Amino acid sequence: MADTELLSGKLLYEFRTMQAMVEIYCKAHHPLKPSQGVCLQCSEFLSYANTRLDRCPYGQDKPTCNKCPVHCYKPHMKQRAREIMMYAGPRMLLPHPIFAIKHLLAERKPAPGLPPERVSNRHLRKLKQS
Ligand code: SF4
Ligand SMILES: [Zn+2]
Repeated sequence: MADTELLSGKLLYEFRTMQAMVEIYCKAHHPLKPSQGVCLQCSEFLSYANTRLDRCPYGQDKPTCNKCPVHCYKPHMKQRAREIMMYAGPRMLLPHPIFAIKHLLAERKPAPGLPPERVSNRHLRKLKQS
């Protein structure tokens, strides 16, 4: 199943934003990649981010990961996410103004409390399938 088939709504939008950032980062840092898309390492990161979005306990109400009290990323993936965002964040405005502005607005929201139970995309998807 393609990564994006798992997600919808805000979660899919956030994944698209992340995808755009990873493409900017990969283009500058990993030039020896196939002519289309991103390198293997960045592709693995995107796949990991997609799974985290699918399992995010906040579901469609997720905050930005930056402000999240749960912090579900493994430390090395969190570090990679930070590097990608620091590089690509300021470079998003020209190629992707809507993604960039929405991301900046989301970053300004206050940190949430702990998540409610059973609202992750994955949980709701399984409920629909059963
Ligand atoms: S739990 Fe927190 S860190 Fe993990 S995906 Fe959801 S908002 Fe991001
Ligand atoms: Zn790359």
